[in-house]
Amino acid sequence: MSDAGTAKVFVITGPSGVGKGTLIKQLLERVPNLALSVSATTRDPREGEKDGVDYHFLTEEQFQERIAAKDFLEFATYSGNHYGTLNSELDRCLEKGRSVVLEIEVQGATQVRAARPDSVQIFIAPPDESVLRERLRGRGTDSPAAIDRRLKTAEQELAQQDDFAHRIVNDDLDQAAAELESIVRTATGS
Ligand code: ADP
Ligand code: 5GP
Repeated sequence: MSDAGTAKVFVITGPSGVGKGTLIKQLLERVPNLALSVSATTRDPREGEKDGVDYHFLTEEQFQERIAAKDFLEFATYSGNHYGTLNSELDRCLEKGRSVVLEIEVQGATQVRAARPDSVQIFIAPPDESVLRERLRGRGTDSPAAIDRRLKTAEQELAQQDDFAHRIVNDDLDQAAAELESIVRTATGS
């Protein structure tokens, strides 16, 4: 890390469907000069997703090559696909003095905590588990079988929420977005 100014690494994690993407979109609108790290994944693009924008979409072989080259800050297998944060993504942003937001699942967040103890770790929790299914159904991007797999993983992820320095319950979206903004502004002194 260049340590330029008060550039920080923010790790935003929590179960699928809890609203991480929605909250991060609001955060980027509320706080200037934050960069969102574009992850690599082997999962297929969803309708409308663009390579290099939503994800770097890699084949299994390409992903394994990047692991062998030690290109990842962290990586994990989630619901049958690989996901990972490239060191180059982080460096590109931090070198410009910009704080970086990682939206990653819990195993990856745990790896980042070990690799970068200075990262700010935020767990987004649902008001209760039943909203996850409703939200995933409502989002309409995953098949019923894929939703079931994600909800099974969510149970394990929720069991680890106390390991995180910050926890936000995403019930009322505006309130959760305000809490996230406040954590980020406090950490960056902005
Ligand atoms: P994640 O990125 O954690 O998988 P998303 O941001 O895609 O979750 O949100 C999943 C669905 O829930 C989306 O359809 C989104 O519009 C909806 N959603 C997010 N936050 C809330 C909220 N506070 N109340 C109701 N619906 C929400
Ligand atoms: P999705 O398939 O819904 O885009 O993402 C599935 C899960 O993978 C989500 O919990 C998301 O936060 C997580 N994820 C996305 N990018 C990364 C990454 O780079 N590393 C890790 N560990 N998880 C990621």
